[in-house]
Amino acid sequence: MRVELQGIAISPGIALGNVVLLDRTKMIVERIRVEDNVIEREKERFLGAVNRSKNQLLSIKENLDHGDTGEHLDILNFSIMMLEDELLSQEVLDFIGAEQVNAEWAINSVLTKKSETFKKVEDVYMKERLADFYYLGERILRNLHGVHDEISYLTAESVLIAHDLSAVDVVSYAKHHVIGIVTDIGAFTSHSAIVAKSLGIPTVMGLEDITARVTPGDTIFIDGFKGTVILNPDKNELKKFKKRRTDYIKLEKQLLKYAKLRGKTLDDVEISVNANIEIIEELDLARSYGAEGIGMYRTEFLFTNSVYFPDEDEQYENYQKVVSALDSPIVTIRTLDIGGDKFPVGMEPSKRLNPALGLRGIRFSLQEQDMFRKQIRAILRSSAENKIRILIPMISKLSEVLDTKKIIEEIAEELGTGNTWEIGVMIETPSAAIIASDISEEVDFLSIGTNDLIQYTLAVDRINEHVSYLYTPFHPAILRLIAGVVDAAHKNSIPVSVCGEMASQLSCVPLLVGMGVDELSMNIHSIPKVKKLLNTITEKDSKEILENALKLKTEFDIRTYVRKVIVQRWGDDFPAEFVEEIVTSV
Ligand code: PEP
Ligand code: MG
Repeated sequence: MRVELQGIAISPGIALGNVVLLDRTKMIVERIRVEDNVIEREKERFLGAVNRSKNQLLSIKENLDHGDTGEHLDILNFSIMMLEDELLSQEVLDFIGAEQVNAEWAINSVLTKKSETFKKVEDVYMKERLADFYYLGERILRNLHGVHDEISYLTAESVLIAHDLSAVDVVSYAKHHVIGIVTDIGAFTSHSAIVAKSLGIPTVMGLEDITARVTPGDTIFIDGFKGTVILNPDKNELKKFKKRRTDYIKLEKQLLKYAKLRGKTLDDVEISVNANIEIIEELDLARSYGAEGIGMYRTEFLFTNSVYFPDEDEQYENYQKVVSALDSPIVTIRTLDIGGDKFPVGMEPSKRLNPALGLRGIRFSLQEQDMFRKQIRAILRSSAENKIRILIPMISKLSEVLDTKKIIEEIAEELGTGNTWEIGVMIETPSAAIIASDISEEVDFLSIGTNDLIQYTLAVDRINEHVSYLYTPFHPAILRLIAGVVDAAHKNSIPVSVCGEMASQLSCVPLLVGMGVDELSMNIHSIPKVKKLLNTITEKDSKEILENALKLKTEFDIRTYVRKVIVQRWGDDFPAEFVEEIVTSV
């Protein structure tokens, strides 16, 4: 049956494909005592699940792109090897017999014991396998329960439907070439949304109950520009959608031409256009989409992707790749911003009511100093000819800046690093924005995290689709706060970047240019269009637009004014799709 639904447009693009429904119910493993006459049946269930798991992994391996190597293949090979390990299987079979327990309990106990041994090993390769162990265990358990494994169903036509997805999920499904994502919950600046955008996967979120409406294999059309989703479209619609998809592919190619532009306005004011990255696999994309620097590396995904915290050497190797990826003086590594909606695999999300107001970012790092010192050592060791920029998230008071500086200075002295680093602070809490002048006296640069600044200033949860209608960068409080931060930084002669999603929203760019922002850092896919816009507008006109906008008192009036004036003044110089985005987005 044809159904048309409206959600929140997250990541632009068009996808037409088949539904793959992600079942994310957590496997709960209970110990069940089994009678003598059931033991053989449990052993057979276990062997059957191992067999199914192995076949699924072999089929994933077969479907990998030719020439796909590296980490992904390592994980597959390791998992297949474990499933073929007769000694391991025998251990589980013996456990079932000796303890008289169900297969689930046996496999869980044996794998837990094995992973404990892995944890103690110094070898980095073996440590990396710990996360793989966790996923392997989950896979066998799901197969024991007859729950389908979605990854083995993914093809180049698959649109993933899920209740919710973590940013880590998005990264791993992207590797399996899903062509679109649709979820029940989530909003524009949730981290899964940001990652989907960065990886260029058309995505619509906040549909409430899409998981209950679809059947695996349904045809689905998603429009990531408008947030529309159509299930089982009719024949005529299918034709139209195919055309829209072809047009979109053409537009992407055209956009890539703008990647080569320099980040500057028509009247020659330089504003560097940098990339936000989440995983190092994005570095090639950052280069080809014209990133002029790395404005923010969200290192937490290095931590949340794994069941253990990576050690100093592992981090060092990872950061070095970021440092050497672009020929640019701007390489900004943000220290761990765990908490909020980002947690390591296997670590229980906070049961507290307000995780966004809890132990997040620098608060966590200052409490977990061993871990933090390791990260700082790894960052400082990786700095090369250019100064590395260390960016501190979630600052809400000056003493956090001073404490962090002290730690960095101590480590720099230990390492004899000298003057090879700069320290910057994320301005993403209202308190930090208000004391930006005091913070500026202590640091080398500021970076405004509008995703959180909007959430905390307007008291609107950034991941809650029910209040996303209240989430806006055009609120006068937001514009006044940002303008104040830019002035405070400039009075102290330090540069300011904006690294929240606002930097990539076309109708916000003239406002930020008018404020005098020095750098814009954004999801990779937005870089070419922002460069094109910058090359079309002037600083002089942007200042005037800002001045007029700041006189207005409601977000509605500001948004309406800004859109109208941009389209009137520069509309003829934009491709039609830009004008559409300016008129319809945020
Ligand atoms: C922000 O808050 O704007 C930001 C860039 O950080 P994150 O989105 O990772 O919280
Ligand atoms: Mg933030």
